[in-house]
Amino acid sequence: PGGIPPLDLAALIRTIPDHPKPGIMFRDITTLLADPVGFARSVDALSAPFRDGRIDKVAGIEARGFILGGAVAHQLGAGFVPLRKKGKLPHKTVSADYALEYGTDAIEMHLDACQSGERVLLVDDLIATGGTALAGLSLLRGAGAEVVAAAFVIDLPDLGGAERLRAEGLPVTSLIAFG
Ligand code: AMP
Repeated sequence: PGGIPPLDLAALIRTIPDHPKPGIMFRDITTLLADPVGFARSVDALSAPFRDGRIDKVAGIEARGFILGGAVAHQLGAGFVPLRKKGKLPHKTVSADYALEYGTDAIEMHLDACQSGERVLLVDDLIATGGTALAGLSLLRGAGAEVVAAAFVIDLPDLGGAERLRAEGLPVTSLIAFG
């Protein structure tokens, strides 16, 4: 008896067909974030596997990874590192390109955002092809960080991103899978 009642996180995620273009099922987490219990449970579940190991920093990917990653960092007693879209960070940066359907984009991190040997948890809302997370991984590893794992609310396993990260030796956790 007692304990925490189950909560259907997937039911709190809004799906918008054909956004931002035909054929994409956009998984909108703003409805999950707006639900006080849903938000808290998501942050608790993202943090839970890492409570017993030291995490020095949480790296969140712009923009939804900031909301979740900031809360996870607070729970784990860690610092927060923003991985931002090109041109947004004010100080000296390192940059990693990743493939889009047409062309490439880049994410950036401050050069001094993490130190060699720091244990870092990478956080974003969703992993699809894994291109964005792999770019983040390369920035963090390039700085000498020990990237402990990557944690996502949503995995789209058909797109293979989690497998690509695991192939790089990075453990991946997710709360929900959409096929
Ligand atoms: P990828 O680099 O292909 O793994 O794409 C992951 C990034 O794109 C994450 O930052 C997501 O927020 C966003 N993203 C990709 N696909 C979707 C989707 N179907 N619904 C919502 N966000 C998505």
